Amino acid sequence: MLLAAVRELLKPTRCPIRTLPRYSSSSHAPPKSATWRELNRIPTPACIDSSPESRPTSTTTSEPAPDLAPAPQPFFPPEIEALYRGNQRFRDAIAASATPNVLRDLAAQGQRPPFLLLDCSDSRVGEQVIFSAEPGTLFTTGNVANQFHEHDLNSKAVLAYAVEALKVKHVIVMGHYGCGGVAAATLPPPPDPTSTTASSNGHDAHQHGNPGACKCHEHAHADPVQAWIAPIRHIYESSVRPEIVAHRQLRRVQAAAGEEAQAPHLNDPAFRALVEENVKANVLRIVNSRVIRNHYAALPPAQAQSPTQPGVFIHGWVYDIESGEVADLGVTVGPPGALVPPSPFPLLQV
Ligand SMILES: [Zn+2]
Repeated sequence: MLLAAVRELLKPTRCPIRTLPRYSSSSHAPPKSATWRELNRIPTPACIDSSPESRPTSTTTSEPAPDLAPAPQPFFPPEIEALYRGNQRFRDAIAASATPNVLRDLAAQGQRPPFLLLDCSDSRVGEQVIFSAEPGTLFTTGNVANQFHEHDLNSKAVLAYAVEALKVKHVIVMGHYGCGGVAAATLPPPPDPTSTTASSNGHDAHQHGNPGACKCHEHAHADPVQAWIAPIRHIYESSVRPEIVAHRQLRRVQAAAGEEAQAPHLNDPAFRALVEENVKANVLRIVNSRVIRNHYAALPPAQAQSPTQPGVFIHGWVYDIESGEVADLGVTVGPPGALVPPSPFPLLQV
């Protein structure tokens, strides 16, 4: 029986299989994981995309296989092929892992993730990857500069579903150093093409070295990115953190001298501080959201005091895109009366 099955598997298929080059150690190295096996046999698109009848089957047929001329090698856009190969490696790793049925089990049983993670859309911040998280662990949402806003329907819906339906234990706002959205908030906004009175909304204040007078966060900029990052610009303009204050003052001096403002360097202390302040502001917004206030109000006092099953905790973390390290900003908020659980992540005193 087993021998027959093996013979069946070893049969040549009608669908040509092309052999892709193995990864070299010098380029395009795959993730180094003991459990990830490299695939070197990938079906051509005829096997992937064609109609079911043209796909190889395990049924035997009395018809002889036609002589197939060497099929021309199809050209895959390399970035698409990289995703395809990554997906193959992912499936292979799951199959080789200690929990090979994890996907099937999650599909059958539904998800019960302990975390809601709000992070940035930045491609360098892969939340599942940086925590080596198994499927079913992180309920995620992301946007430019990891922001939560009560008036944003997406923000509200994600938080409500995570807390009320999935009953996550932790909500994490995770910013990252080098965030482009945060960097843009330190620069003068471009002129609003729909506005003929730029000076009336304070844009001229930026351009003339007085960003503190800018009221643009109170206005909807026609540029959706500028409109989205306006709350971060407001933090930049109003923060009293010494690094940010010094940066603002330098900007004014530069503007007065007619120098064009440059995006801050990755490790500029003010840039890092603004990333952290933005995380803290969003933690606060979540804590003050209707969803969380209702959640805390509904907790029975005894449960709120219980260390084993308290309500949800809201954390503020930051990710270093250079080192891959995650740090805890120490701004965790939990249910009234509940002790904040200790964090194994390095604590940033900010
Ligand atoms: Zn970012």
